[in-house]
Amino acid sequence: MTNKPWETLSQTEIKELQEVFLNWYDKHKRNLPWRMNTDPYRVWISEIMLQQTRVDTVIDYYYRFMETFPTIAALAAADEEKLLKVWEGLGYYSRARNLQAAARQMTEAFAGAMPTTVDEIASLKGIGPYTTGAIASISFGLPEPAIDGNVMRVVSRLFEIEADIAKASSRKVFDEAMRVILPVSAPGDFNQALMDLGSSICTPKNPNCPECPLNKFCRAYQDDKATDFPVKTKKTPPKPVYYAAAAIENTKGEFWLVQRPENGLLAKMWTFPLLELEEKQYQNLKKDFAKDEPQQTELLVAEESDAEYLLPFENSDIIWQKRHLGEVTHVFSHLKWHLLLFYGRMKGDGSPQGFPGQWVAKTDFATLVFPKPQQKLVEQLDKNRGDNKVF
Ligand code: SF4
Repeated sequence: MTNKPWETLSQTEIKELQEVFLNWYDKHKRNLPWRMNTDPYRVWISEIMLQQTRVDTVIDYYYRFMETFPTIAALAAADEEKLLKVWEGLGYYSRARNLQAAARQMTEAFAGAMPTTVDEIASLKGIGPYTTGAIASISFGLPEPAIDGNVMRVVSRLFEIEADIAKASSRKVFDEAMRVILPVSAPGDFNQALMDLGSSICTPKNPNCPECPLNKFCRAYQDDKATDFPVKTKKTPPKPVYYAAAAIENTKGEFWLVQRPENGLLAKMWTFPLLELEEKQYQNLKKDFAKDEPQQTELLVAEESDAEYLLPFENSDIIWQKRHLGEVTHVFSHLKWHLLLFYGRMKGDGSPQGFPGQWVAKTDFATLVFPKPQQKLVEQLDKNRGDNKVF
């Protein structure tokens, strides 16, 4: 048997598969805001938002984004801070920055519009093969496959493809299979049908094969092997990183916030000061300053002389609460942050040393761009600090 089963399909079978599937899509397609028309700007923004993010989460962000930046020109001209604010909470912030960079490329090189050829679309910042395929097929009717994890799952089952989907090199196998079954007459609908099937019927754990419009053509279903596909090697788990996070308040009720560097993870976003620790140090702090230790049921304040010993932020002008306010974790694609939150109060009018930043009133937090871990820290602060004010 060939290891490329799509090569054995006759033209009649391919045509039948396409017709059955497109009819199914006509009846069952999801009613999503970006599908109101095939405008490339809408398709592009929605596809970038949908990377790594669930449809339910994206919908509100999508409306807000289109309202704030209704055109490529508006996006190109946007203030970066405002752009990140609209994106706040959606994660993977480089996506937002790349959107703007691509909008500027369009302004400079393509008369302010989305280019119309596959190579030109693929030349835009942040637009990889999947998004290129989605825009080219949906907006311009070009016969380009749009292959993401959902599509690889469906296609691997259809043809019992054993290529490891965790490897970038496997992509060409799926590309080849897709180019055989993709109809030239309706490539956009066919790609979207695959996306919908992958999210509603051909799901990772319990594919609903009896209801699937493709079951007649699906090798994995016929061999009762649907859940053996796709083949995927395990990813290396994200590397743990440990931080003490400091919520430092002054006498005016303002908190000290620092801005992250220009480049790298969460670039230019605002957080409480974070101090990286060894795992052992972190675990010791977590144990020694556990909030539920009996002798610490009341809010205890560290003696000034204890401050350096007790907590990893060296600044004698800060009085630290002698317990931590709990732990927050956040998983990025390659890192897992563990953050142990401490609360300190600044004496006098000074500022914390060693963490360049600024005082910000709590009521003004909404004006800054907070990444998800910082949002979780603020929630933790509100939850565990309680009304027990000693200062
Ligand atoms: S028959 Fe089952 S495994 Fe095959 S494509 Fe449909 S849902 Fe997926």
